[in-house]
Amino acid sequence: MITKNIVFLLLGSNLGERLQVLRSAVELIEEQIGQIKSASSVYETAPWGVLDQPAFLNQVIELQTVLDPEEVLRIILAIEQELGRVRYERWGARVIDIDILYFQDLILDSARLTIPHPRLHERRFTLAPLAEIAPDFIHPVFHKSSAQLLAVCTDNSEVKLFS
Ligand code: ATP
Ligand code: CA
Ligand code: CA
Repeated sequence: MITKNIVFLLLGSNLGERLQVLRSAVELIEEQIGQIKSASSVYETAPWGVLDQPAFLNQVIELQTVLDPEEVLRIILAIEQELGRVRYERWGARVIDIDILYFQDLILDSARLTIPHPRLHERRFTLAPLAEIAPDFIHPVFHKSSAQLLAVCTDNSEVKLFS
């Protein structure tokens, strides 16, 4: 039997038709990476890092894939391109951003890819949607659940339900 791995992805958009962009990204991810098992609500969130930019819409999705992490990264970068992402400045405005949060309980640190995502525990805009769909999933480095990470997160940037 082919092994299927659970992957959590964070989607973000703060330019263009944000909700439509998220929907298109989810469709392309399902076609190219694997079946979506659950999706969080969409949250409207204040920018983080670079504050002088429009609010984001963020969503976390859980999927199953037969691909390996490098293949998932290659495809999410291609989907960002397809949806019109242009890189201006670090943490700046973008049509779409797709990050790998977790890949099963894998711990990986290479030049191109760090899993778990190295800043996920510092970001309320990531932890709130993640804790909604996977409150008990354990961070393989910190050995804390999403709900526990959210409870101790000191990021107070605004995160509110959008749809
Ligand atoms: P942040 O990583 O702080 O959320 P960002 O999403 O704005 O910032 P990008 O410009 O989208 O950063 O990505 C830069 C590079 O990060 C990607 O080309 C990719 O090689 C690398 N990267 C490392 N770990 C991950 C990961 N877990 N998910 C997605 N990209 C990653
Ligand atoms: Ca990101
Ligand atoms: Ca990214």
